[in-house]
Amino acid sequence: MLDEKKKKQRVANLQLVKMSNLTLIFNLINKKRSVSRAELAQVTGLSPTTVSSLVDELIENSMVRESGIGSLNGSGRKPILLEINPEGGYVLTAELCQEGFVLALFDLEGAPKSEKLYKVKDFSKLGAEIVRSAESVLREHGIPEKKLLGVCVGVPGIIDKASKRITSTVLPVTEDNDFFDVLHDRFHSIPVKMGNESCFCAYSEKVTREINVHSLVYIDFNVGIGAGIILDDRIFTGAFGNAGEFGHISVDYNGPVCKCGNRGCIEAVASMPAILKRVSEKKKAVLTIDELVRAFNNGDETVGDVVRDACRALATGINSAINMVNPEAIIIGGDITKLGSRFLELLRLELDKIMFKTNSEKLIIDYSTVGVNPVTHGAAYYMLDTIFKANGFIVE
Ligand SMILES: [Zn+2]
Repeated sequence: MLDEKKKKQRVANLQLVKMSNLTLIFNLINKKRSVSRAELAQVTGLSPTTVSSLVDELIENSMVRESGIGSLNGSGRKPILLEINPEGGYVLTAELCQEGFVLALFDLEGAPKSEKLYKVKDFSKLGAEIVRSAESVLREHGIPEKKLLGVCVGVPGIIDKASKRITSTVLPVTEDNDFFDVLHDRFHSIPVKMGNESCFCAYSEKVTREINVHSLVYIDFNVGIGAGIILDDRIFTGAFGNAGEFGHISVDYNGPVCKCGNRGCIEAVASMPAILKRVSEKKKAVLTIDELVRAFNNGDETVGDVVRDACRALATGINSAINMVNPEAIIIGGDITKLGSRFLELLRLELDKIMFKTNSEKLIIDYSTVGVNPVTHGAAYYMLDTIFKANGFIVE
């Protein structure tokens, strides 16, 4: 009986070793883009026979393909090169928004295949709507469901880590909305993840920046102001999942009342709606964002004063984040970037006045450079990285 148990344990252990070796080989091919079996054996220290059998399994699963003949290094036959097969697997990402959700499909290399907004009338049926749209996207692209490797949802709101329920001031959802459970039940054999949208913006920035950045804070100026934090290449959400509530850092305890009930929150003094509100109070006229941007760039004094005040408040908040987290980069995204390079320069100047010199010499302060929808893009890369790091790339 004991022997039987030991035997089973040995089989399980062997299976585990094989899975982690498969993951290792797949990750190396993904990282090197084009690599031979001999090089894989050399890098991993695995025997050429083991590498060959693992590569065969990946080719059989369509995750990897042979891409051509490499150049000869020494004597013998020219090596056959291997690469990731982008059509070997797909991930779906959904960005929840006021109208419904944006559903996007990405291949195994993270290339976008489609992205579309689906409007939702009744948010109590959100889960079923996402499932229906996901099934229809796969059908449209002729992708068998066994090639779907993961689903990831970006949420503009707070996610309770334990219950997976969300609280959002942007979405018309109640706390008992079960869309995540519905998704999880439908796609139970693959990873289904959910995260705050600012975190995925931060992740998108991390993977697209030319300079390798391991720790960054992405401040997302949207309907509210949220921040995504990456620490040592990982998304940081805090003990209860609420890290990154940057918009509700108070920079003036005598300031205007915020919708959270506190005074002087960054969201209440330095967001685009707050800037527009102050300008309209001073000018006794309501301005659109475009009009505000034009007035700022044309040197309008009133607008300039309001924007400078907001900039100072924002710099105070950002400096707190810098002192607390000490990131390599602070990235600004969302509607405030419409104020252009003059605003960014102003922000850098304000920060230079108050932050430690050791930070100011190295810290990158920049607008987002992603250029595509950062939420769906970041969610897709996060999902793919999660799959590559774990063993989720096994299609069966
Ligand atoms: Zn607040």
